[in-house]
Amino acid sequence: MSGSTAGPEALEPLVRAVLAALADGAARRGGPVPAGPPDALAEHVAGEYAAARGEGALSRLTSLLAYGSADPADPLCAAHLHCPPLAVAVAADLAVSALNPSQDSWDQAPAATTLETLLLGEMAELVGYDERAAGVLTSGGTESNLMGLMLARDRVVGRASGRQVELAGVPRRGPRLRVFTSAAAHFSVQRAAALLGLGEDAVVPVAVDRDLRMDPDALAEALDRCADDGGLPVAVVATAGTTDTGVIDPLRACAELAAEHGAWLHVDAAYGGGALLSDRLAPLLDGLALADSVSLDWHKLGWQPVAAGVFLVRRAETYASLARRAVYLNPPDDEEAGYPSLLGLSLRTTRRADAFSIAVTLRTLGREGLGRLVDACHDLARAGAEAVRSHPRLELCSEPELTAFLFRYLPARGPYDPVRTDRINAALRRGLLREGRAVVGRTELPGTGPGRVRLKLTLLNPHATPADVERLLHAVAEAGRAEEAAEEAAGRHTGETGEETP
Ligand SMILES: *Cc1c(COP(=O)(O)O)cnc(C)c1O
Repeated sequence: MSGSTAGPEALEPLVRAVLAALADGAARRGGPVPAGPPDALAEHVAGEYAAARGEGALSRLTSLLAYGSADPADPLCAAHLHCPPLAVAVAADLAVSALNPSQDSWDQAPAATTLETLLLGEMAELVGYDERAAGVLTSGGTESNLMGLMLARDRVVGRASGRQVELAGVPRRGPRLRVFTSAAAHFSVQRAAALLGLGEDAVVPVAVDRDLRMDPDALAEALDRCADDGGLPVAVVATAGTTDTGVIDPLRACAELAAEHGAWLHVDAAYGGGALLSDRLAPLLDGLALADSVSLDWHKLGWQPVAAGVFLVRRAETYASLARRAVYLNPPDDEEAGYPSLLGLSLRTTRRADAFSIAVTLRTLGREGLGRLVDACHDLARAGAEAVRSHPRLELCSEPELTAFLFRYLPARGPYDPVRTDRINAALRRGLLREGRAVVGRTELPGTGPGRVRLKLTLLNPHATPADVERLLHAVAEAGRAEEAAEEAAGRHTGETGEETP
């Protein structure tokens, strides 16, 4: 067992073995991701798994895991909102694993219950909320967005229909329920609408401007149209830091329009919430405190191990529909006697003390220390964008508002062909993965038709340097030339459609 007074001693040799195996696996990998095709890796994993037996299994499989990881601590691994966790946060997480507190009742997490509450108070302050706010730790933006929309549904539909939606369900008759979010918002908004009985079709995609920011005029129009059609606007979901380009929707305009139409405003700041740590970038989130609820994710721009999501509401009383009584977890007489319970704040029952590593990190580095890491990543993204701009074969497709930007490789030969350009960009990214050279993101601009494939760098490693990013971009251009050469060798010529882009 890992707890009690004997636990640390039992853990020590195992932790040493894990640390040695981590170093060994990373050295064998020798880059951001293991080289080779996926089926070769799968075969290797299956072989090692079958061979691991008894006491050696921990070392062998840890080394395998490290070897076979896409390692965000490698500067050439920069595809996703997948951060390298801070060593101090991982060490704190080890303490949580060893003690295994569960946040659903005080008698399973006496100190961790208070620590989570204290941390949430600090998070609320960071967002600009006052002491009337409430919140909970979540598995991430997906769960936080679901909670925001659930509370929106219960509040707004409840008020309009005069019934308690969490008990009676969504009314079958009456106005059509609508959620408004930008075409660049995270897919979990649609997922949440489906789970909440509104249906994905309830989500109205609002047009974005050239920078992929929600267009407030389009939002105003969509809300007016909903009112004209007798619909009920349940919520506006604004994104503070879109997953692809990190742009921030106009939060004040969204708040005004939502209020005007009686809709809840949820701000998905899963990515952009990290900007609150930086004096330089925090002003970009002006208006965030007007939101009825907010999603934050410290396992993105916050360097925490997964999961480190935070969900906050501006007013604790809007949390009412989630309140739960379970006689074996939070009996009223316990609460009256001063034993608090977080059960009614979460969708989950058993829940890890994910607040702990965030709390330790915040106390170790302070907001200033974390802000410096955010600024370093922002600087890196700006340097990367500059390097793309001055590269003859690369095209910059979005400016880095936070720490990410889109770009693509432009083939050297032939006139511009959108189908071929998409195909080469998609293929060069897979080529880099296969060679174990770099992990680059790939996405598509909103809209239809070919020519929308883009490459993406999401820079979350504050220890990476501009020279690292240049090396990465050089590898991209080289892989692009290699794809062109391979295409010519295979006898393809420009204009031919070839493999379809999905
Ligand atoms: C990552 C992300 C999510 C999903 O968060 P998870 O932590 O992966 O559940 C939601 N919204 C945005 C804007 C994101 O970037």
